[in-house]
Amino acid sequence: MGWKSLDDMDLLGKRVLVRVDINVPVEDGRVTDTTRIDRIVPTVTDILQKGGKPMLLAHFGRPKGKTVPDMSLRQILPALQNALGQDITFIETLEAAEAMQDTPTLSLLENIRFYPGEEANDPDFAARLADLGDVYCNDAFSAAHRAHASTEAIARALPACAGRLMQAELSALEAALAAPERPVGAVVGGAKVSTKIALLENLVGKLDLLVIGGGMANTFLAAQGAQLGASLQEPDYFDTAKDIMAQAEKSGCRVLLPVDGLVSKAFKSGADHKVIALDNGTKLDDDQMVLDAGPDTIALVKSAFEGLKTLIWNGPMGAFEIPPFDTATVAAARAAAAQTKAGALIAVAGGGDTVAALNQAGAADDFTYISTAGGAFLEWMEGKELPGVAALRA
Ligand code: AMP
Repeated sequence: MGWKSLDDMDLLGKRVLVRVDINVPVEDGRVTDTTRIDRIVPTVTDILQKGGKPMLLAHFGRPKGKTVPDMSLRQILPALQNALGQDITFIETLEAAEAMQDTPTLSLLENIRFYPGEEANDPDFAARLADLGDVYCNDAFSAAHRAHASTEAIARALPACAGRLMQAELSALEAALAAPERPVGAVVGGAKVSTKIALLENLVGKLDLLVIGGGMANTFLAAQGAQLGASLQEPDYFDTAKDIMAQAEKSGCRVLLPVDGLVSKAFKSGADHKVIALDNGTKLDDDQMVLDAGPDTIALVKSAFEGLKTLIWNGPMGAFEIPPFDTATVAAARAAAAQTKAGALIAVAGGGDTVAALNQAGAADDFTYISTAGGAFLEWMEGKELPGVAALRA
């Protein structure tokens, strides 16, 4: 905790600068996925109901401090007005905002990254932004791993609080890792060890159970002597994998690696495959690949989940985009979802592919919380203090 929410702020008649993440996919000038827009509605509605005047601050794309017309937030305006059910005043420039006599009821400032001061976290630029409001509200958890003027410096210049989405993210993440109900476990899957070293190192010091899946599990098995043919694996990280196993043993974290896998010669949907046992002595042919965990592993994972009170999930347990290599991910996700639905587990998941995999399993709705933040969720799992969150605590 240590941060304030909208409940702690007096908003009546106040100009509220709200940092949101509406960096949504756009094709031919139309928003193709409104998830991020939909998720900020509770915050904006709440501020309006409390008599505040929200001015939304947001980035779109990477214009690198220059005005790039293709990256104007104006193209997001129709989708935003639709989600909020009311008109929004679009403010073209910071200068125009500064020149305004009256603050509009609800407004959106043009792409904040058109200004070089934003990504530089320039205090003078943040002071200009702060002059536009009385209160600052950060609802962009997914941008909180960046120390930018509209996420960091501004929070130190005004009374600051978390918006509803940020509040939900922080509460879920704090419940899952800062002070979890034990035993606490994690599933870490996905392609590569190399992208998740810091995360694995942080987790083994904190968890009771670590389930390693996906291509990353191949690297762990191969580090112990398994010869896994054409499987995705990273020989440069065999030592890292061994170090992580040693750290886990020292800190009393049980590591569960696959004991069997689905092996195929083709990385494609419906490819011929068979189940093989996996251990230190496994020897695959040169053209064989492990693409998913097998049935014995699924059974082990499910029974390991039953002993847990808290579960964190990042990354699929196999090549889930190409069935049947989604089998382990789907089965494990459904088991966690059922336990959560029954009130026996707190399950928190995050990361781009993870959200897609859990949706595919039909498990997402029953998880306690699904974070849509990619980089910020991973940095939080790495144990890093996110600058945007630290500034809210200051
Ligand atoms: P990441 O972005 O690190 O979470 O990795 C997700 C990707 O890992 C997905 O695209 C999966 O298809 C891929 N993946 C998981 N397991 C395997 C595997 N055994 N072989 C090849 N790719 C895999």
